[in-house]
Amino acid sequence: MSLTLNTDIAIIGGGIAGLWLNAQLRQQGFNTLLIEHNTLGGGQSVKSQGIIHGGAKYALHGALTGSSEAIADMPERWRKALQGEGELDLRGVRLLSDAHYLWSPGSIAGNLTSFFASKAMRGRVDQVKGQQLPAALQHKDFKGRVYRLAELVLDVPSLVQRLADLAGDSLLQAQTITPRYANQQLVGVQADNYSINAQRVVLCAGSGNQDLLQAFALSKPEQQLRPLHMVMAKGPALLPLYAHCLGGGSKPRITVTTHPAADGRWVWYLGGNLAEADGVARSEPQQIAAAQAEVAQLLPWVNQEATQWATLRVDRAEPVQSGLVRPDNAFVTEQGSLLVGWPTKLALAPDFSDRICKLLARDGIQPSSKQSYPDLPRPRVAQPIWENAFN
Ligand code: FAD
Repeated sequence: MSLTLNTDIAIIGGGIAGLWLNAQLRQQGFNTLLIEHNTLGGGQSVKSQGIIHGGAKYALHGALTGSSEAIADMPERWRKALQGEGELDLRGVRLLSDAHYLWSPGSIAGNLTSFFASKAMRGRVDQVKGQQLPAALQHKDFKGRVYRLAELVLDVPSLVQRLADLAGDSLLQAQTITPRYANQQLVGVQADNYSINAQRVVLCAGSGNQDLLQAFALSKPEQQLRPLHMVMAKGPALLPLYAHCLGGGSKPRITVTTHPAADGRWVWYLGGNLAEADGVARSEPQQIAAAQAEVAQLLPWVNQEATQWATLRVDRAEPVQSGLVRPDNAFVTEQGSLLVGWPTKLALAPDFSDRICKLLARDGIQPSSKQSYPDLPRPRVAQPIWENAFN
């Protein structure tokens, strides 16, 4: 038997985009239902490195052209939210690092000259030395330069949990989602046995958007997937490190973030160039060997003997773009009462939400009278990836 639920906005996908938007709309008084077919955050979000970028990485190759880019505002917006003074109350979310670092292992690379000259970077980067260095780089043999960026690194599992708490009774687990039409107009979705009436439907299901668009008989917007082959290392010799290590090219040679495992050990999560094209082509043992060689070369004092290694393959989902430049803004498009998008970065979830809210305001969509929902099947919060990686 089908049960009818009335809501204002039906959100499909419980990653950072859907969860942030859901919390924001509920705060504005909207009735919402967020439908997730698996675990909350279990797509790309909990597999991300949790860096709240301010665009420094893009300034390296000139793609960040000015302070007007949405990404430049993100660290400050998130910082306020973490302090309970922002658009959402994210107090209780674990801040792993108050800064992300840029680390040049040799002498200053040529591309850093234009980086420091870039208008977008002015006042946002300071060189650090000695005891100000990240713990893993405080070694007598360390050579190179390190710059502190005004960017944050978050513990994403605790972020997803907080946003799930803010979701109240609006979460629904359902496997099959199809559109519902009346007079050829989209009026909501069928989610398993629930017939949901909504003023607007938002698809923000990461890589799942493609199949959902097909279910809605739409061929646009097109999605692109960018495969990555990430590496995890866990061991007693690993100390916290949050840094882009610069190579010769425009992309970081490796990007290291450090995450707390339940047994009290630190887990290094390695991305950047290591995880891109060549890394994707490598088998798991080859990718681990490549990561071990990078660590041996860049941090030779780290004793790797008792370190465990694992890799993770994951696709980044984004709208199709021309050229190789990555978007520094969230992407949202609309087809009648259907809105579709990708935040393109965890950091840009607030920008994604802003764009949806603007479209709702433009169309005069207002909260209807408060609904309360029966006990709905509730999706679980995803486990941190490093908890099951080393079995
Ligand atoms: P997802 O997190 O993928 O969530 C989509 C959700 O939709 C999933 O829960 C999925 O189960 C659900 N879903 C799919 N299909 C359906 C369906 N048919 N019905 C119902 N639900 C469905 N960004 C940063 O800003 N900083 C970083 O440091 C960073 N590091 C990254 C590292 C890696 C390895 C990767 C892969 C990405 C990284 N990103 C980073 C990018 C960031 O993770 C993503 O842009 C962001 O998490 C996307 O969020 P999302 O909600 O759109 O998608």
